[in-house]
Amino acid sequence: MAATDTVLRPDHGSRRRHFLFTDEHEDLRESMQAWVSNEMFPHRNEWEETLWPNSILARAGDLGYLGLCFPEAYGGQGGDYYYSLVRAECLSYSGNGGVNMGFAVQTDMALPPIEMLGSEELKQRYLPEAITGRKIAALGITEPGAGSDVAGIRTAARRDGDAYVINGSKTFITNGARANFIVLVTKTNPEARHDGITLFVVDMRDDNGELMPGVTISRTLEKMGMHSSDTAELSFEDVRVPAENMLGEEGKGFYHISWELQGERLVAAAGCNAGAERMFERALEYVKEREAFGRPIGKFQAIRHKFGEMATKIEASKQLTYATAWRFANGEYPVREITAAKLFASRMCCEVADECVQVLGGYGYMREYEIERTYRDVRLNRIGAGADEVMLEVIGRTYGL
Ligand SMILES: Cc1cc2nc3c(=O)[nH]c(=O)nc-3n(C[C@H](O)[C@H](O)[C@H](O)COP(=O)(O)OP(=O)(O)OC[C@H]3O[C@@H](n4cnc5c(N)ncnc54)[C@H](O)[C@@H]3O)c2cc1C
Repeated sequence: MAATDTVLRPDHGSRRRHFLFTDEHEDLRESMQAWVSNEMFPHRNEWEETLWPNSILARAGDLGYLGLCFPEAYGGQGGDYYYSLVRAECLSYSGNGGVNMGFAVQTDMALPPIEMLGSEELKQRYLPEAITGRKIAALGITEPGAGSDVAGIRTAARRDGDAYVINGSKTFITNGARANFIVLVTKTNPEARHDGITLFVVDMRDDNGELMPGVTISRTLEKMGMHSSDTAELSFEDVRVPAENMLGEEGKGFYHISWELQGERLVAAAGCNAGAERMFERALEYVKEREAFGRPIGKFQAIRHKFGEMATKIEASKQLTYATAWRFANGEYPVREITAAKLFASRMCCEVADECVQVLGGYGYMREYEIERTYRDVRLNRIGAGADEVMLEVIGRTYGL
């Protein structure tokens, strides 16, 4: 039997890994975290002005970070779902939400529907180049007239011989201005709502990088945060897409995209948790150094309690995300829990950002201390990939309400 003095000694400093992750996951974490810290973090300010460069996605592709969960047949590593969580957590070290979002659109939003629902020919055509980061992908759901209400979209895909002709517009599309192709959510039956939706993979640019006939980037949009990421309004005018570019079944697109959103939301939750941890660490360092009234401000009970609150919320959010990821990775479809994890992590992350600005005082409001940028960047999480109110609707309805 172990001696009580070793059993009962608290291990606050322990960095023991979560049981979800194996040695292989942790090896990846170590190398990817170092890469993000060395090759992305130093550019965090520059990219706010210039947008993140396409070359960083290609570099990530060369290092194998984009294909972690995709089959080897398409250039991936064939890893399990947890690798997506590790990637999202490592990206929190970039210090720049926009580049993290651009990467997540590629790896966790646009490519999974192609892998899950595309024909073998489509997978061979689109996945390998996207996994090497040589082709950039976008996901087009939202329209000027419909966001949360996905069934209300109006972009039309009309059958014409062996092709579909697409007309409509999409807005708020991440990577939209630079994408080579887009997974597009369309209506093949304008009379129907949920059962009229169909997904296509649509080329935005040809091999020379020129926009395809009928595809227009109507506007690039100015935003509150995520400045290193491009966000575009796109227009499609009589764009011909071969019928074989359909993903999944005609009329089943709403259910297909609902599946895509589950993986995206869980990865978003992991990103929020890791982002909150990074903010917590930086603020903790600050309150140990900054003095007021003759002592480090972290020694004031009011400040100490803020850290107690933040640490508790971060830990609760991580556990909810990990427990849900375990179920998702083991073949369950836990929509209620995924929705709750996304809701909780998004809110938690915004609360932590707000508290961290507060504990840094005036410095928290200044650009050079960077928490100001994170505060603006993380706010998107309560809107994108399903707004808080929509998450609450989904959860409430699972109880038959
Ligand atoms: C920076 C950024 C990047 C984005 N990237 C992409 C992308 O790559 N691809 C893409 O397709 N989309 C993208 N989006 C769009 C995003 O997913 C939508 O903004 C989001 O789904 C909300 O839709 P909406 O903006 O149309 O708001 P609305 O649906 O108009 O909602 C407005 C408000 O009404 C509330 N509301 C709506 N319905 C209900 C209801 N039933 N009950 C209670 N309240 C409700 C909402 O919660 C919200 O508070 C992005 C958005 C931003 C800001």
